[in-house]
Amino acid sequence: MNIIRLFLFLLLIWIVWGFFKRKNKKALKIQEKPNVKQGTMISCKHCGLHIPIEESIQVGDANFCCKEHSQL
Ligand SMILES: [Zn+2]
Repeated sequence: MNIIRLFLFLLLIWIVWGFFKRKNKKALKIQEKPNVKQGTMISCKHCGLHIPIEESIQVGDANFCCKEHSQL
């Protein structure tokens, strides 16, 4: 009986430990995302419009807001 109780106790600790680990990982992911978005704003080399880097067109070192401006 004591062995079963000990096993259940260890199992409970393992579940709680796993739960807190997952919670910490989620919290870290939420903290990282806003920082990435804030640091990725660029300005178009042709018209100076500020847009996120994911939506920009990169030609060498220069960033453009659209395909038309990258070709001018
Ligand atoms: Zn532009």
